[in-house]
Formats: sequence, C-alpha cells, structure tokens
Amino acid sequence: MDLFTTKAKLRRLGRPLAVAVGALTGGSYARPLITCGVPALLTIGCALAVFAVTHTAVGMLLEWLYGETYRCKAPGCGFHVRIPGTDAGESRWWQEIAAAHPTHDHAHHA
Ligand SMILES: [Zn+2]
Repeated sequence: MDLFTTKAKLRRLGRPLAVAVGALTGGSYARPLITCGVPALLTIGCALAVFAVTHTAVGMLLEWLYGETYRCKAPGCGFHVRIPGTDAGESRWWQEIAAAHPTHDHAHHA
C-alpha cells in the first residue's frame, strides 16, 4: 500500500472518525451528569459542547498529521494551500494550482 492510498483512505475515514471520537467523548461526559441528577437540557448542552470541541480537535489533528501543503515555487512568495489528504492525481492538480495562482505576494509587487 503506497502513501497516497493510505492518505486517500484516511481522508474518507477522517471525518467519521472525528465525529465518532467526539460522540464517544460527549457521551462519556453526559452519562455521569445524568446519573448525578443534572437537568437534561444542561447535560445535552454540555455533551454537545464536548462533542463539538473534540470532533473539531481530532479533525484538525488528522489534518495536521496527514495534510499536504503545496507552496508556490516563486522566490519570496508565501502563497500556499493546505489540503487534508490527496491522491496522486489531485496532488499534481494542487501543485499546479499553487504554482499558477494569479498574484504572487512579493513585496516589490505591492
Ligand atoms: Zn506565488
């Protein structure tokens, strides 16, 4: 299995994985709260907040671990795109996008 296949699989799995981890964490916070007699609305609010934070954090972590950054090759240009995980074909496509963006942010162009 090559790296691109792994990344493509991870991109498909990443979102559901992040949601699953978020739901599990949210659920694990909700259970003790409910059994301690915390009102349902408060419990739901807390569980949703924990879910949102966890699933966003896991998503960002996966993107950071497996994302791909494509930079413009022009000297001094800071343009780059960050993509959560691409296959070989898309990778080439993003490379071209990064190289062909309309305005290089060179200081002397401003
Ligand atoms: Zn550029």
